[in-house]
Amino acid sequence: METIVIALGGNAILRKGAKGTPEEQWETVRQATREIVRIAGNGARVVVTHGNGPQVGYLIEAFESLPPEKPRQSLDLAVAMTQGWLGYLIAHSIEREARSLKIEAKTAVIATRVMVSRRDPSFQNPSKYIGSYYTKEEAKRLAEKYGWVMKRDPRGMYRRVVPSPKPLMIHEADRVKKLVDEGYIVIAVGGGGIPVDEDMNPVEAVIDKDLASSLLARTIGADKLIILTDVKGVALNYGEPNMKWLSKVSVDELEEYYREGHFPPGSMGPKVLAAIEFVRATRGTASIGSLSEAYKVYKGESGTLIVPQSIKN
Ligand code: ADP
Ligand code: MG
Repeated sequence: METIVIALGGNAILRKGAKGTPEEQWETVRQATREIVRIAGNGARVVVTHGNGPQVGYLIEAFESLPPEKPRQSLDLAVAMTQGWLGYLIAHSIEREARSLKIEAKTAVIATRVMVSRRDPSFQNPSKYIGSYYTKEEAKRLAEKYGWVMKRDPRGMYRRVVPSPKPLMIHEADRVKKLVDEGYIVIAVGGGGIPVDEDMNPVEAVIDKDLASSLLARTIGADKLIILTDVKGVALNYGEPNMKWLSKVSVDELEEYYREGHFPPGSMGPKVLAAIEFVRATRGTASIGSLSEAYKVYKGESGTLIVPQSIKN
């Protein structure tokens, strides 16, 4: 039976311009999980991972609005909170969807810690977008008030960026594998995992969930990696008049495009890297596509499919 790791984009769950009410989140997650249940119902073992950029930023912004005497919680704790928050949304939606389709599905949400290095260069060059979108003037004010680093998001407007160190090892990978092998749908490495250093000290950062998902997929020996986001796939010259969507691409070709600079850090860059690392290591396939078309992406009918061999010859 094949094992598939499916990564859900945090920005696709809480879209730019959305209010972010509980009702809205249930609706978005329900659409995605309906497709995941179809994939699982097709006879695949499934691990679901998810991002948390908008959600972890929401928590940090909420902490800042507390009265001054209340302590602000650290970034690693905020990441842990989003694992519970989104883990519950996803697990509950999967079981509800399965129940309505009379399919057996049992979920397990794993609070996951991921090892990173204190010497990672990202501490000097933050790239992970979190939280709300601000105008240039607002961004400048927030940078002065809180010392936040602000950068322009590819969707437009400015957002806070935080360090996003490379995931090196997933502490709970063995437990994830056990549960998956027993037939549970496991939700793990939420928000890229809670960052801890080599000495098991908490680290204030947000790991990229695509890189963490790729590492998890390789560690548990998954056959496929599917990355779902808020665009229909990988494009060359993204946002330019000569933009071109890729439907099927070899890992060598994709690496060439990566070197040419088509995929920026903090958004499409880590997805493409995650896919390259997975396909190179396993000779399996990776897909990057739209969260709203998960089943079609799984079937290779939508999104970008990354294959080990060149398709030119
Ligand atoms: P997620 O929450 O799904 O991880 P990201 O913001 O990290 O979302 O990545 C998806 C975004 O990447 C898209 O919304 C798009 O704006 C941006 N992007 C940048 N370059 C490209 C590209 N070459 N092809 C497709 N999308 C791109
Ligand atoms: Mg992302």
